[in-house]
Amino acid sequence: MGMFSVVRMPEPLVCPNCGESGTWRAQFKFGALDLVEYKVGQRLDWDYAWDVEGERGHHRVVVQGVLDGCPHCHAHDFDGMWQSVLIEIVDDVIVSAVQDTSGEGWWADEWRVLEE
Ligand SMILES: [Zn+2]
Repeated sequence: MGMFSVVRMPEPLVCPNCGESGTWRAQFKFGALDLVEYKVGQRLDWDYAWDVEGERGHHRVVVQGVLDGCPHCHAHDFDGMWQSVLIEIVDDVIVSAVQDTSGEGWWADEWRVLEE
C-alpha cells in the first residue's frame, strides 16, 4: 500500500451520491507519508525515515490530493474531477484545502512549487 498523509477538509462537502453534507478527508503526498491526519493551519511533519515526498522549505507549494469516500455512504468513485483537491502549503504549513475547480485534470506530478 502506498503511504500518504490526510487533511480534513475545512468546509463541509455535499456528497454527489447520497446528498448528505459532511466532513471529508483528502489524501495527499507531500512531507512525511505516515498516515498523519492534519487540519488546515498545521505544520507538515518531515521527520519520518520510511517514506517522504517533496522537499521542505519552499515558500509556497500546491499539492493535488484526492478525497476519501463519503463519511455517510462511503461512495468514493465520482465522475470527473469531483474528488480532486488542491492543498496550499506556505512555509510548510497547510493554509487551505479546497476542491480543485481549475479544470486542469489530474497533474502529472502531485505537487508544484509556486514560489521558491
Ligand atoms: Zn454519500
